[in-house]
Amino acid sequence: MRPSFHPRLVNGPLGDPVLFVPFFYEKRALLFDMGDLHRLPPKEILKLTHGFVTHTHMDHFAGFDTLLRTFLGRQKALHVFGPPNFLQNIEGKLASYTWNLVENYSHGFSLKATEVHPTYTISKVYDCKKEFRSNEAPHKAPFDGTLLAESAFSIDAIHLHHKIPCLGFNLKEQFHVNIMKDGLRRLEIPVGPWLRRFKEALYEERNPEEGFQVVWKEAGKERKVDFRLGDLAEQIARISPGQKITYIVDVIFSPENAKKIIEFARDADQLFIETAFLDAEIDVAREKYHLTAKQAGILAKKAGVKQFTPFHFSPRYSHTEHLLQEEADRAFAGVACSRQKPTHL
Ligand SMILES: [Zn+2]
Ligand SMILES: [Zn+2]
Repeated sequence: MRPSFHPRLVNGPLGDPVLFVPFFYEKRALLFDMGDLHRLPPKEILKLTHGFVTHTHMDHFAGFDTLLRTFLGRQKALHVFGPPNFLQNIEGKLASYTWNLVENYSHGFSLKATEVHPTYTISKVYDCKKEFRSNEAPHKAPFDGTLLAESAFSIDAIHLHHKIPCLGFNLKEQFHVNIMKDGLRRLEIPVGPWLRRFKEALYEERNPEEGFQVVWKEAGKERKVDFRLGDLAEQIARISPGQKITYIVDVIFSPENAKKIIEFARDADQLFIETAFLDAEIDVAREKYHLTAKQAGILAKKAGVKQFTPFHFSPRYSHTEHLLQEEADRAFAGVACSRQKPTHL
C-alpha cells in the first residue's frame, strides 16, 4: 500500500515540534504545531490548507510569523486551529505589525482561526485586505471531537493536561484506494491527473452506475475513454483500511491523560509522541508537565500502535539522544511493532 500521507518532523527529534504532512495524491499539506519553520521551504508552506496547534508555548507557535510572511500577498486561505484563548494569541500576533499598505495588494490572503474548547469552537476570519481586522462576530459551533471532516479524511482533537489545556490530534483517512498497475495496463490507460478525480469519486461514494471519463494526453493529442464508475473501480482499485496518524505532545503522565491518550491513539498506524526526559529524571518531567521516554513507550504499547516516533527531546540530551530512543524502545518492546526513525527534511 502506498500511503496517502507522508508525515515528517521538520526539525528532527531535538528541534521545535513541527509535523509536516504532505498529501501523496495532490499538492496539499497539513501542519501539526508551528515551532521554528525556517527549514520548511516556501513552496511546501504554500501547500498548507490547515494548521493545528497543540498549545501556544513558544516552541510550538513561534513559526506562525513565518506562515503569515509566506502567505501574505497570495490569493490563498489558511485555517488554523488551537486551544482555548487561541484567538487572543492570533490577534496579539497580528496586532504586532503595521498593515497600512496591504489594502493595495492585488491578492488578498484570508486567515481563519478556530479555538477549540471541550464542547464548542469559536471561529473568526481575518482578511489581509482589511488589515487583518475581524469585523464579523465570532462564529460559535458545537464540538463533538471532530474538527475537520472531508470526503477523504478527518481530523479529531482531544484536550489534555499540560498545566494548561493542550490539544492532541488524530488524522484519519476514511479508507485507502490502491491503484492496481496491471489493471491499468489491461485497460491500456496511463496514470495521470484523472486518478485524483477517480479517487475523489470513490471517497464521495458516488453511484457506481455513474459514468466516468478517463482523459489523458498522448503525442500532444487528448484521448478519452468512457467507463461505468463501478466497472473501472473493480478493474483498477483495491480498497484497504485508511491510515491513522496520532500526534501527542506536552502532557503530564497523569492517569487521566494516560487513559485519554491510549483510547485516542488506539491502533494508530503511526504515533508521534513527545519524549522529553529519561525516566531517571521523572521528577523534572512531572514538574514541567512532560513525559519521560519510558512513559511515552508505555502509552504507545498500550494503545497498540503499529509504529511510533519519539521526539521533542529536551536539549540536555543533544549528545545522548540515543538514550531516550533506547528507553522508549524498551518500554515499547514485547509487541510486534517497529519504531520508525524520525525523518528530516
Ligand atoms: Zn514543547
Ligand atoms: Zn509546552
